[in-house]
Amino acid sequence: MNEEQYRYLFSKMSQSARAISNEPIAFGRKMRAGRICSSCKLPLPAPHTPGLKRCASCEDKHLVFMYFRQRSGWHCGFRTEERKKLPREFTFKSSTTLRELARRGKGLVHAWDREGFEIDVELGKGGIWLRLSDEQYRALGGVL
Ligand SMILES: [Zn+2]
Repeated sequence: MNEEQYRYLFSKMSQSARAISNEPIAFGRKMRAGRICSSCKLPLPAPHTPGLKRCASCEDKHLVFMYFRQRSGWHCGFRTEERKKLPREFTFKSSTTLRELARRGKGLVHAWDREGFEIDVELGKGGIWLRLSDEQYRALGGVL
C-alpha cells in the first residue's frame, strides 16, 4: 500500500468513526441548553438559559453550506440554510484555495468542523457550513 492509498483508507475510517460518534448528539444537547453557539459550537457566556442561541460573532452571519468535489480541480457550490442553491459556483486549482475560502468563511472555527473538513478534502468530496457576512453572502449571489 502506498502513502496515498493509506491516507485515503485512513480518512474513510475516520469518516465512519465520526458518523457513529456521539459527539453531534452531545453538541445538539448543549445547543438546546443554550450552553454553546447553535452555529459555530463555541461556548456561550453564562448565565445559560435553554433554547438555541448564537454567539456575538455568529449573530449577524448567514449560515451557508459549501459542498465540494475534486474533478479536474476543486468544484464548489453553495446552499442556504433553507437548502436553496446560491447562483455562484467556483472551481479552484488546488485545495489550498478551498481551505482559504473555508477559513475566510468562518467554517473552521470549531475543531470538529476543521477535522471533518480535512477528512473530506482527503477523500476528494464533502461539505462544510460557513458563516458569511452580508457582503460575502451577496458575492455568492445571495439576496438579502
Ligand atoms: Zn457562534
